[in-house]
Amino acid sequence: MSRAGFAKKLERTLREPKELVAQGLARAADLAGLERVAARYAVAVTPHIAGLIDRNDPADPIARQFIPSAAELVAQAGERADPIGDDAHSPVAGIVHRYPDRVLFKLVHVCAVYCRFCFRREMVGPGKDSALSDSAYAAALDYIRAHGEIWEVILTGGDPLMLSPRRLAEIMADLAAIDHVRIIRIHTRVPVADPERISDAMVAALRVEGATTWLALHANHAREFSAPARAAVARLSDAGIPMVSQSVLLAGVNDNAPALEALMRAFVECRIKPYYLHHGDLAPGTAHLRTTLAHGQDLMRQLRGRVSGLCQPDFVLDIPGGSGKSPVGPSYLSPQDSVVGPGEATAETRYRVTDYCGEVHLYPPQP
Ligand code: SF4
Repeated sequence: MSRAGFAKKLERTLREPKELVAQGLARAADLAGLERVAARYAVAVTPHIAGLIDRNDPADPIARQFIPSAAELVAQAGERADPIGDDAHSPVAGIVHRYPDRVLFKLVHVCAVYCRFCFRREMVGPGKDSALSDSAYAAALDYIRAHGEIWEVILTGGDPLMLSPRRLAEIMADLAAIDHVRIIRIHTRVPVADPERISDAMVAALRVEGATTWLALHANHAREFSAPARAAVARLSDAGIPMVSQSVLLAGVNDNAPALEALMRAFVECRIKPYYLHHGDLAPGTAHLRTTLAHGQDLMRQLRGRVSGLCQPDFVLDIPGGSGKSPVGPSYLSPQDSVVGPGEATAETRYRVTDYCGEVHLYPPQP
């Protein structure tokens, strides 16, 4: 908090637009519009995140992720309440079974912070069903038990780390007791949004006999890796929990090569392997935060030339409607092509391979 404009740490999470205005995080002139946004989509800014926002910077990349904007009231053609088609693949409440060997298990509908681009924005927040009922939880476990092909269970939500360590430990034990469940992956934003929540008890709850825990951390800007966030992530890594990253390509947050490079370096410095960079989903009222696919591909090309393979995520698109995720990054290999090489008189079939500087090279096919 050394830069001018950063405020003293708050005592509690901000949930009302008028609180955001009072804290200098939104303009009073925008209040009426923000009240309309907040009536539709949940708002939460933790004291930790509020402390990272530079109030003197109208384009602050942390604020852009969490402070609502009247632009969210403008829906575009093609945007939809369930952009990645969870509902089409939900056999029982709380479970999404889209791919054969894994399921999503949505335990809670609340988060530490509410991201303005969230693809589940119509489903998360106070006022939505906050947690599975006991009977729905039992039915979801029965479904996993009955499907021997399920190797991996992905806890998501909402944010599963909003559960108490005691409840989380019970859930982990229930899942690990199912023989065919070998991997439990937890998707969370808590280590960067509310790092104090990663207590010793929480870390202990995530480790379980009988299954391997992985954690996917969602962060979109290098400044989210504050000292407390790095310490929280270190507690998880030191406990032997492998971690991967998850980010969304966001206009005005990380849609330039230096920002993306700094983000990926921050993940790797924290022992987190970059995994997914998502193209923004078609969630209602999020067009102002989306980039084009072509821009995402161009950034991935630039990233390839700036950082090692350790820092390279897959650029992915969740196909609207529920058909799953596809890598949509640039290709470096053109299909076999009939070309005339330097000094050659006749055409020959060759591959074209592009190097990290953009230079094209020919590569012979297997004879
Ligand atoms: S933490 Fe995840 S589920 Fe919650 S609002 Fe952000 S993107 Fe959505």
